[in-house]
Formats: sequence, structure tokens, C-alpha cells
Amino acid sequence: MKKIITCIGIRPDIIRLSQIIKKLDNHFINIIVDSGQHYDYNLNKIFYDQLEVRPPDYNLDVKSGTHATQVAKLMIEFEKTLLENDPYFVIVLGDNNSSLGFSLATSKLNIPLIHIEAGMRSKNWRMPEEKNRVIIDHLADMNICYLPEHRENLVKEGIDPRRCWVVGNPIIEVVNAVETSFQQKSPFYLVTCHRAENTEIKENLEKILAFLGRLYEKSNIEIKFILMPKTKNMMEKYGFSFPEGVNTIPPQGFLEFLGMEKEAKLVLTDSGTVVEECAILGTPCITLRESTERIDLIELGVNALTGMDIDQMLNAAEYSLTHQIEPVSHYGKNIADKICNILIGNSLNFSTKYSR
Ligand code: UDP
Repeated sequence: MKKIITCIGIRPDIIRLSQIIKKLDNHFINIIVDSGQHYDYNLNKIFYDQLEVRPPDYNLDVKSGTHATQVAKLMIEFEKTLLENDPYFVIVLGDNNSSLGFSLATSKLNIPLIHIEAGMRSKNWRMPEEKNRVIIDHLADMNICYLPEHRENLVKEGIDPRRCWVVGNPIIEVVNAVETSFQQKSPFYLVTCHRAENTEIKENLEKILAFLGRLYEKSNIEIKFILMPKTKNMMEKYGFSFPEGVNTIPPQGFLEFLGMEKEAKLVLTDSGTVVEECAILGTPCITLRESTERIDLIELGVNALTGMDIDQMLNAAEYSLTHQIEPVSHYGKNIADKICNILIGNSLNFSTKYSR
């Protein structure tokens, strides 16, 4: 069997790759490398445990830091892992700083790079994730996209169509594979908010808090706010406090959180994965951002992109509470199998041997 490396950067990477890793393990000597960018138990190991992913073979212990520190540290550490293992190819997923560091180190050694979740674009060039995505897609030898429009984005940017595949969205297989247990009789709203644009831009965080305060005033329904360490730090830095009706809870395990998403009357989020899960579950969901790369969900009318306009957020919340959302059906099936099929056959031989 050929030796390959599968890279894990942060929480959603473990979740999305969980089913794919199990399949890859049957066909390759698969070395799992975790960047260590997320290191608390409830942001990392809990997902390996709950989704039955075997522990990583390497943890690069990158931890937190500035963008440059994280990417540079990861490149240095991952280069050593690459040289030690000499993999046949490397798989990265998503758009976080670890994904970028993994990709740069791999590509510089001319080892074939496979990018899963390729081609998503928010067109918001101030987002760190958008810069990461664009760079990774252009470095990758094989781009595995979720939807046809993601592939079209790549082709428009001049990437050879022979380097792009469309397989569907692996999150649907993860959601379908697990059983959740969370139950609560009284109604509640669920909030996640930790993206740089909403925590590092003070006015945005202020507006989101003001909106949540008004939402509670209007509806008197409990608001559960998952408080990530980053948001907590920024709240303290700005001297902000949570309005009445907002109960903060620590980051949850996947099974607990997915259960909450199922039960919530409405989910308010700046997460890319949470909007997809709500669309699969048929839970009303609002994106608290100015832009999104999940344009498919906006176009299907199952998610609202409110921008940082408090009235708009309130209108969207009110509307979504009184209207039914149909679970979406465009994410496909057998995604992990399709990815294995592409990689085992290494379709088009790494896209005609590194040509561009
Ligand atoms: N999630 C979780 N526990 C939580 C909050 C989120 O398991 O307390 C899961 C959620 O179901 C989704 C993923 O983490 O699968 C989303 O992660 P995040 O918002 O950090 O990343 P993004 O999707 O924006 O890249």
C-alpha cells in the first residue's frame, strides 16, 4: 500500500474528514497529522473520540499565534514530517491557517497536493479564509469541490478544469452517520460567533450583541451562545457584556451540538459548517456576516445573509420563525467513496503530472 498523509487543522476538519479517513485507511498507509492549532480537549480530542477517528500519528503543536507565526511554524514542522515519510500525496481540507501551512510545505517539496473543499469563494478579500482558499486551490494538483459552481470559480480563475472534480459535500455523510441525544422542552435560539470579522472588528461584535438583546426583548426565548475562547478574550478586551436572556455555554461535543442544532427554533451563526448542517436538518438559520462562500444556501432561500444591520437581522429572525425550511437535497451522497475512487485511481495521474 502507498503511504499518504491526511492533514487536520481545526475542529471542522476532523468532523468533515471523519468518514473519509475511515475509507482511505482501507486503501493506503494513511498518516494523520494534526496541526495542534486547536488543542483544548473540547475543541480537538472530543471529535476524534465521538466520531471514532483514530488518534493522529503526529501532532505539530502549533497552537495559537499571529497568522504569520502559525503558518511559519507549521511549515517548518510539517516539512520535517514530509521528509521523514515521503508520502505519495497529501490531503488538506478547508481554508484555515493550518491548511495553508500544510499546503505550502507540501507544494514546495513538489509532493502532489489534494485540496478538499476547493473553489468556494466569498469574494471578500479581507477575510483570512478567502486568501487561504485562493492560495491553496492554486497550489493544489487536484481540487476536490463540493458543488459545480465551486469548480466554475476555479476554472474562471484559470485553473485547468482537468485539475478539478465535483463530489458533493462530505458533511452530509457525517450528519447522517451519528445519533444525537440533546433534548430540551423549552424553546431556545442557538448562536455561534467567533470568526475574525465578527470578533476583531469591535463594531460588528457590538452590533451582534445589541441584536441578541433586542431579539430576547421581543421574543423572551432563551438564547444559548457557544462561547469560544477567542470571542471570550475579545469580549473582555472591549469590556462588553452579554445582554439579558443570553446564556453562554462552553464549546460542545459534535453529538451534543448537532442535537442542539436540531432542537433549536433558530440558529444564528457566522460558521460555514453550521449553516450547512442547519440546511441538512431543516433548521432555520441566519448568517451573521457581510458575505458568504455558501452562496448556494442563500440562493436556495434556506439561509439569510443579513450583513451587520440590526433591523435586517431582526426581520430575518422573525420571518424564519414563522416559515418552514425544507431540508436541502443538493449535497449528494457517497462522497467519501467518490473521493477514494478519484484518489485510488489518482485520476489523470495528478492532473497530468504537475502541469498547470
Ligand atoms: N461544533 C461543535 N460544537 C460546538 C460548536 C460547533 O461540535 O460547540 C461543530 C459544528 O457542528 C460544525 C463545526 O463544529 O460541524 C463548525 O466549526 P466552526 O464554526 O469552528 O468552523 P467553520 O465551519 O466556520 O469552519
